[in-house]
Amino acid sequence: MESITAKRALIVGLDGAPPEAVQMTATPHIDRLLRYAAYTWNAQSTLPTWTLQCFVSVLAGVPADAYELMSDPEGWLEPRTYPVPSLFDLAHQAGLGTAMFNNWHPLDTLPRPGTVDKLFSSEGDSGVVVREACAYLLREDPRLCFVHLADPDAAGHKHGWRSEEQCAAVARCDAHLGVLLGALEERGWLQETLVVVLSDHAGGMVTEFLHGCDDPTYSHPLVTTVPWICCGPGVKKGHEIGAEVSICDTAPTAALLLGLKIPESWQGRVVSDALTTQ
Ligand SMILES: [Zn+2]
Repeated sequence: MESITAKRALIVGLDGAPPEAVQMTATPHIDRLLRYAAYTWNAQSTLPTWTLQCFVSVLAGVPADAYELMSDPEGWLEPRTYPVPSLFDLAHQAGLGTAMFNNWHPLDTLPRPGTVDKLFSSEGDSGVVVREACAYLLREDPRLCFVHLADPDAAGHKHGWRSEEQCAAVARCDAHLGVLLGALEERGWLQETLVVVLSDHAGGMVTEFLHGCDDPTYSHPLVTTVPWICCGPGVKKGHEIGAEVSICDTAPTAALLLGLKIPESWQGRVVSDALTTQ
């Protein structure tokens, strides 16, 4: 098995962005990434398709029912009590710098206290989040950096999933991604960084403006199917992944590429089809 192949990881969460909205929108930076990435437009979210729970799946490799969140009627959780380590735990224990920039305050509760060196949260204008993340990337060396952008979810709730407004929100996210990749490029880190761009869930169907919010078991494919794009050292280039991918597979794939030991408690699996050697 390969030893460490990526020096750092940047994970960008496009909240609520469905694959169709990304594909229908002019996204030059995502397009550029795809040329060097292994990707699928058919990755699967976890249930319930609620933001905090799904990002726990992304960063801690388990679906919500593994830690009894299904019983929470409000969709809130005490993530600090979820009984598995997150990527932040792993990176922090390995002495790697960690950072999280989010566009929705409840995500502050996702990392266990003390496992992120930099935690920034700002609701509303996602540009503020990206500016802060870029300033940090240009100044420090976070080896694990998670950036969350809320625009597609906000536009979906307000204007409907796959609406013109949601596509405009995806375009804003793409511009933000360009700025983040520009910061990596400026540091000379682009070739050595694992970049993952994904959504936590999509939406629509229950009503045009929701993503299964009232029903934790709601699993229509238009709500659960999300883009998952992975680019960096050890990753196939321009490769559409044929295997099934869950958002739970993000953490183990990133851990493997960062040389971190994958906890047995994680349910996600390494996306072998995305990798050149494993
Ligand atoms: Zn969400």
